[in-house]
This record gives sequence, C-alpha cells and structure tokens, in this order.
Amino acid sequence: MSLPPRIGFIGLGAMGRAMAENLLKAGFNVSVYNRDRMHTRFFADKGCAVAPAPKDLAGMCNVIITMVADPDALDCVLQGPAGVFAADFGGNILINAGTVSPAYTRKLKDICFRLRVKFIDCPVTGSKPLAESGKLIMLAGGDEKTVSEVKPVLLAMGKAVVYAGPAPAGTALKLCMNLIVAQLTSALAESAVLAERLGVAPKLIFSVLAESPALNCGYFKMKERNILDKEFSPAFALKHMLKDARFIIEAAAAGGQRLPVTEAIEKLLAKSYNTGWGGKDLSVILQTLADYYKTV
Ligand code: NAP
Repeated sequence: MSLPPRIGFIGLGAMGRAMAENLLKAGFNVSVYNRDRMHTRFFADKGCAVAPAPKDLAGMCNVIITMVADPDALDCVLQGPAGVFAADFGGNILINAGTVSPAYTRKLKDICFRLRVKFIDCPVTGSKPLAESGKLIMLAGGDEKTVSEVKPVLLAMGKAVVYAGPAPAGTALKLCMNLIVAQLTSALAESAVLAERLGVAPKLIFSVLAESPALNCGYFKMKERNILDKEFSPAFALKHMLKDARFIIEAAAAGGQRLPVTEAIEKLLAKSYNTGWGGKDLSVILQTLADYYKTV
C-alpha cells in the first residue's frame, strides 16, 4: 500500500474477532468498533483504540473492514450521523467482508463511488475455526489495483485471495460457495437421519467418508462432532445461512433462474429458525429433520 494502513475493524462477532486478532498478530495498526462494547475489551487490553462510533473510527483510519451480520447491520454502521459515511472518508478504502446480496453490494458500490471511497466486496469462505487459524479464502471483488493494494491486509486474515472481478463479483462468488455449504450440510444431516432409521450407526457414514478418496472432505470432518454428538454450538449460525439461502434464491431469480434444491433447503432452514434455533450451528437442521419430518 502507498500509505501504511491504519485499519478500523467493525464487527467483532464469531468471525470478526478472530480476523481482527490475526491482523494484530501480523503487526497491523488496528482500531475497533463493535455495537456491544463488551466485545471490544479484548482489543482494548491489547492496546487498540476503541472508537465510540463508526464515524470516529473512520476519522482515525484509512482502511475500514466491516464484518457485521447482514445488510441492516451494515446500514447501521455505515449510514446515519454516526456511520462511516458521515466521516470524511474519501480516498480511503472500505472492505466489506460480511455476506450480503449482490443487489445490496451494488448499492454500496454506488454510494462509495459518489463519496470517492474505494470499495472492495470481500466475503470469506471458511467458518470460525478457519478464521482463527488464518485460513480463510478471501473472495475479492472490486478494482483490481485496489485489491492488490490491500492484499497484505487480506492475507493476514486468510490463506489465499481469489480475485473475482469488479464488485459485486466477490459477493456473487461467495453465494455460489455457500450454496455448496448449505447442500453439503443438508446431505450430511439427512444421511445421518436415514442411517438411524435404517438401524445403521451414523458414525459409519464418517468412517466411509474418511476412507473414500473421492468423498473425504475437510468440511465433513469439521461437522462430524456436531452430527454425531448432536452438539450445535455455533461455528456458523443457522440464521446466517438462512439469510444467505434467501440471497442466493433472490440473486438467481434476478438472473432468471430457479434453484429447486436450495429452495427446499431454505424451507428446512426457516423451519429450524422458527423453532428458535437461529443462533445454533447450521448443523442443527439434523434435529429439525429428525423432529419434524417423521411420518411414523
Ligand atoms: P456473529 O457472530 O453473529 O456477529 C455479528 C456481528 O454483527 C457482531 O459484531 C454484531 O454486533 C454485529 N451486528 C449485528 N447487528 C448489528 C447492528 N444492527 N448494528 C451494528 N452491529 C451489528 O456473526 P459472524 O458469524 O461473525 O458472521 C458475520 C458475517 O460473516 C455474516 O454476514 C455471516 O454470514 C458471514 N460469515 C460467517 C461465517 C461463519 O462461519 N460464522 C463464515 C463466512 C461468512 P454485537 O456484538 O453488538 O451483536
């Protein structure tokens, strides 16, 4: 980068906390903002500045990274009198790492263009454990020169940067990836429910997956304990996948495409969410399948 980056990180949730911590470990100058100030304590103890509002954070930084839940949360931290856009942030860089829709990203890109803010949409693949170990894949959309300018920053949070094209290409690629994650999780959960109904130990599914050169995949391994122990503390909260399934369906529809498998999974996720399980790990759909789809 031409200037030493002074990074302002907004959103210290499951992912953001680990990503901001990895930026610190890599030696970057990091300041933070989080709506619930309790989650900033860890960073204050490490000597980071804690801004009272996103606008103040933007006033002290030349790169802002947002990792908040959804478009409403992004509006809260970017817009209004206390938001990032209320600061004089022209010429600086905004990186959105959270998952939103391509339509929302396009809107953000236009606002940034008007304010002369350089905008990158850079959602990530990999959940909490991979965020903690710095092994996320950064899916970058935006001006290629700006993406390469911030590459050292992105590589402090992830193991690779994939350049997808002008924004919202990073977001579009992320939705393609999450379609796969949604379907892999549903496949595992439904297979485990079937195994139980047929009197086969579900752990045998994982034994076969581990032996198979074609099906042995890190994601299945990552979800093994959730499925076998029916333990659903969140690495990727179900509410976020429900949001993403809806973005996927909406974006596909805008392009004239139906996605019947993802549509079925959206219904399953919604059923699970309406049970009150939005904050549990996505793999809790196992319980929803077992509880609600029993016919005898
Ligand atoms: P999370 O643990 O639920 O954290 C959400 C963050 O958003 C928190 O910092 C929260 O602040 C903030 N937030 C929510 N509503 C807000 C509002 N109205 N105003 C200001 N801040 C608000 O979520 P996460 O798992 O870190 O995920 C963050 C994003 O990354 C989501 O878009 C998700 O889809 C995406 N993602 C997640 C994973 C994963 O495996 N977890 C992987 C890839 C991408 P408070 O602390 O004040 O509530």
